[in-house]
Amino acid sequence: MTDPSELAARVRDGELRLHELEAHADPETAAAARRAFVESETDTDLETVGSYAFEAENADPNIENMIGGAQVPMGVVGPVEIDGGSVDGERYLPMATTEGALLASVNRGCSAIRSAGGATARVLKNGMTRAPVFTVEDVGEAATVAAWVRENTDQLAEAAESTTSHGELTDVTPYVVGDSVFLRFVYDTKDAMGMNMATIATEEACGVVESETPASLVALSGNLCTDKKPAAINAIEGRGRTVAADVLLPHDLVEERLDTTADAIAEANTRKNLVGSAKAGSLGFNAHAANVIAAAFLALGQDIAQVVEGSNAITTVEEREEGLYASVTIASLEVGTVGGGTGLPTQAEALDVVGVGGGGDPAGSNADALAEVIATAALAGELSLLAALASRHLSSAHAELGR
Ligand code: NAP
Repeated sequence: MTDPSELAARVRDGELRLHELEAHADPETAAAARRAFVESETDTDLETVGSYAFEAENADPNIENMIGGAQVPMGVVGPVEIDGGSVDGERYLPMATTEGALLASVNRGCSAIRSAGGATARVLKNGMTRAPVFTVEDVGEAATVAAWVRENTDQLAEAAESTTSHGELTDVTPYVVGDSVFLRFVYDTKDAMGMNMATIATEEACGVVESETPASLVALSGNLCTDKKPAAINAIEGRGRTVAADVLLPHDLVEERLDTTADAIAEANTRKNLVGSAKAGSLGFNAHAANVIAAAFLALGQDIAQVVEGSNAITTVEEREEGLYASVTIASLEVGTVGGGTGLPTQAEALDVVGVGGGGDPAGSNADALAEVIATAALAGELSLLAALASRHLSSAHAELGR
């Protein structure tokens, strides 16, 4: 077996490059050698970073230049009762975070929802997008390309779907800006978040566009997708799962469990989440949906950068005669239960806790269920934080639990 310190010395001498270590040793030894090199270069001790519980070999699709594992504390919220399109019954949700008070707060909301008999949740739309950009001669040619695409979506679907046994092309919308043509491809990616799947399928379809029209591909992603950037197109059209959850909490429950009134929570929501967000020019009209989404994404092997899109949620609250009605609608929740980081051991275990590990039957139902559980937890988080603000308990709760 190769000695990691010898390999690290060869990197230091310039004989090997840091990213070449896997070509000279097994993945575990390569990571140890890289860690030893970084320790000596930065005068640090990476013992804890090196104490990880997965096989380096299995993390190969997920990381390059591996030195170990980042560990984030994981907790659990729930159970919470959900009447969903794909979930029916009680579910727990693991969440990984370093923000003290977050899980306690979400759990308080889950407990209120449970006492009210549960939440309703539905996936309203499902479509992962990729939007390549092409160049053409002028707007006349752009219009010709756009018209050809509208008339030949079947041909594009045939090409795109030849690359995947699960993905289905459901729409292609052309957008023209001068001599640029953007084609926003939309796919049903079933239980995969689908970004790789959609990108590979779109590349194949782009070949057809180039051979059948005068358009020439400039970039496979033209940012009209839009991945990992705040964008109004995602807020309006959705990306991944568009999912909503709501609940009706009787007045006495709001007073007993949330220490405030429906009227006070509704006012906090209107002035903060609606008026305040509008004044700020925010795309997120909610209190902290991203907190729940980020912590769930970390625990469950999702692509954490897509919290950007997930934060694009609208919370509504109203006082009704029977109690407090609250809803959260997340326009773009990009989730998968296969692929990406979902196969790593802690992430796979956490998906099993939710009851959605691997492919669903029918395909797509596990990712739908996961979206419904996350939306319900986001609703719980909204209720609890709005209640804390309405009853002016926010800073004391953070001081008690988070410091
Ligand atoms: P993936 O790990 O690349 O592929 C998942 C594959 O699982 C699918 O292509 C599918 O194979 C297969 N599969 C098996 N059972 C399935 C089921 N029930 N439903 C759907 N698919 C099933 O994952 P991905 O979701 O396409 O992409 C996620 C990864 O992309 C993440 O690691 C993310 O970080 C990364 N990412 C990539 C880009 C990019 O531009 N490429 C951008 C952002 C993020 P078949 O297709 O053969 O059916």
